[in-house]
Amino acid sequence: MKTAPQPVIYLDNNATTQVDPAVFEAMLPWLREEYGNPSSVYSLGRRAASAIETAREQVAGLIGSRPEEILFTSCGSESINAAILSAASLDPDKTHIVTTAVEHSATVKLCEHLARRGYEITWLPVDSRGQLDLEKLERALRPDTALVSLLWANNETGVLFPIEEIARLTNAKKVPLHVDAVQAAGKLPLDTASLGAQFLSLSGHKIHCPKGVGALYVNKRMRFTPWLRGSQENSRRGGTQNVASVVGLGQAAELAARHLTEDDPVRALRDRFENSLRDSLTGVEINGDPEHRLPNTSNLAFAGIESEAALMLLDEEHICCSAGSACSSGSVHPSHVLKAMGFSNDRARGSLRFSFGRFNTSEQIDTACEVVPRVIEKLRRLSPSGSPVVMAS
Ligand code: PLP
Repeated sequence: MKTAPQPVIYLDNNATTQVDPAVFEAMLPWLREEYGNPSSVYSLGRRAASAIETAREQVAGLIGSRPEEILFTSCGSESINAAILSAASLDPDKTHIVTTAVEHSATVKLCEHLARRGYEITWLPVDSRGQLDLEKLERALRPDTALVSLLWANNETGVLFPIEEIARLTNAKKVPLHVDAVQAAGKLPLDTASLGAQFLSLSGHKIHCPKGVGALYVNKRMRFTPWLRGSQENSRRGGTQNVASVVGLGQAAELAARHLTEDDPVRALRDRFENSLRDSLTGVEINGDPEHRLPNTSNLAFAGIESEAALMLLDEEHICCSAGSACSSGSVHPSHVLKAMGFSNDRARGSLRFSFGRFNTSEQIDTACEVVPRVIEKLRRLSPSGSPVVMAS
């Protein structure tokens, strides 16, 4: 007789999240009897179009924008590509883009591609806390700068850039700003109306919606050139909308907004886990500015271990977490984010990211507080050098 798989303790919510049952339920009719094309004029189509407009209002509600400033995409990466490519194509004399050394691969790869096409990219460095020097950012803004594109919250460390100050600087120089808010949305209050960014990217699967749907906010005063051409989304994004996923994203956004107004139990779980590990183990350091971090993220450097080996042992104990970002997992290269913060290869390779979510329970944290130190101690005993690697501070 087959035994049921052990339930996992999922501490990798920055990689993706469990679908909220309410999101799943909201999507079901749009996968079954409500199969109309939202562009069709008969009622089956009009109901689908109306469901999309409701989702647009729900997403706008989460980020404090107008519904007409939201367009639906297939993922966060598409939103990022659409924003950067639009800004880069508006004025042939503006061929300079400012970004940072710690961006998600969607931004990194696109900027590298644009650099090969003749654009000049300024990659702003970060300090050992993962923070930017805003004077450097201000100095980087030039008359030919087409766009500043940067993260609000780093997916690996959770470090938050001071996005309001950054928006003040870019607006003063009249340079458009794109904010990759894929990790921040649903974890922090967002208000695009007061922020003053021109673009902002979101992704469904980080907020308890299935993978494969995202949204892009485009400020109503910002000119937008579509990347994927067609008549849908007011001619700003071609392709028949993925109605079920868009409905799911709307539902997920509404639920996220509701959870934001309550006390943050996820922060309490993260803090308890982190404090417990630091009490029970030596040689543990937080990667990233501890004061300005997402409330759900704990990126920890463990002296004397290889994080890939830790991932395997933790997997045997049914605990999921990440070494660096999920998108670079499987690669032997140390995380570009930790390297940009000036850390040694050893520190980067000994780092694990634990990221918590609203479906984690207190009992799961109790288990993780027992298992993770045991696994780290075991790896240290097995370390071929026999002594923990000394970490750079
Ligand atoms: N930006 C950040 C900060 C992310 O963490 C991710 C996903 O890991 C993305 C963008 C890309 O989002 P998606 O997976 O929906 O393409």
